[in-house]
Amino acid sequence: MRTFSYVRAEDVDAALRAITEEPNAKFLGGGTNLVDLMREDIERPDTVVDVTRLPLAEVDELPDGSVRIGAMARNSHLAANPVIQSRYPLVSQALLSGASGQLRNMATVGGNLMQRTRCLYFYDDAAACNKRSPGSGCAAIGGFSRGNAVLGTSSSCAATHPSDLCVALAALDAVVEVRSSRGTRRIPLVDFHRLPASSPEIETVLASDELITAVELPPPPSGCSQYRKVRDRASYAFALVSVAACLDVVDGSVSAVRLALGGVGTKPWRAYEAERVLLGAPATEDSFRAAARAELAPAVSLPHNAFKVDLAERTVVAVLRGLA
Ligand code: SF4
Repeated sequence: MRTFSYVRAEDVDAALRAITEEPNAKFLGGGTNLVDLMREDIERPDTVVDVTRLPLAEVDELPDGSVRIGAMARNSHLAANPVIQSRYPLVSQALLSGASGQLRNMATVGGNLMQRTRCLYFYDDAAACNKRSPGSGCAAIGGFSRGNAVLGTSSSCAATHPSDLCVALAALDAVVEVRSSRGTRRIPLVDFHRLPASSPEIETVLASDELITAVELPPPPSGCSQYRKVRDRASYAFALVSVAACLDVVDGSVSAVRLALGGVGTKPWRAYEAERVLLGAPATEDSFRAAARAELAPAVSLPHNAFKVDLAERTVVAVLRGLA
């Protein structure tokens, strides 16, 4: 591990000053991903700015019915929050399906948005990886690709985004609040992560001097919701496929629907095409299957991950059937 400087910020302004003064600095939240990446020599900051003491851990209900989640809220606290459990149960379900109890106690909401892929080759410095070393190639495309993405891929990278929480947030139209010395801006979660295209090393629209301060959830949509994760073992595993869905049915037809997918996309994948097919359609298994197929039609699979297309279709159908 390389030598680096450590700065503990006591308030947001101090954190922003520290990140601005040091060109190769990184914010440190729970460290559950960044510290691993530093040990592996993938992330090489000269300075880490510890933001875990910032007063950004609260979960507040706002007068308009939305909920503001501070970026330093720990995953375990957020999952157990009564407001989240009662009004946004799929957020709790997504959080509790991720990592282990110990990791959830450390990991923060802001860090969850910033976590990097778990593509095997990204962590293997003997392998070509455009995300780790731009222009070096992609070992996954000709290699073992079982865990890789089928939606949003490019010839440069097919790494999945690993977050469960972000899939639920994508379905809920969450908004990310970020601050810098230039002020505050709000970014829809669905626009926060980038597709890999020809520059997979750039994963979000966040500037290097911007700090995630909160995630805002609009009032929950009508109907029922669920997050379901399919994985190789019952805990401490990343999604092969996951589905976050909110569904309302009136007189047998779909009156409102939100759908997002994890484990299959290079970013948390909002399934707009499936939603378009479903809205107003009969709430039947045929409609659910047609919607899933429409969303997955552009899927491009690699030699070992074609099963994800079928698995995603079946998981979407099962979740929507249960909610209906
Ligand atoms: Fe690297 Fe992306 Fe290829 Fe994985 S899929 S080896 S992260 S470039």
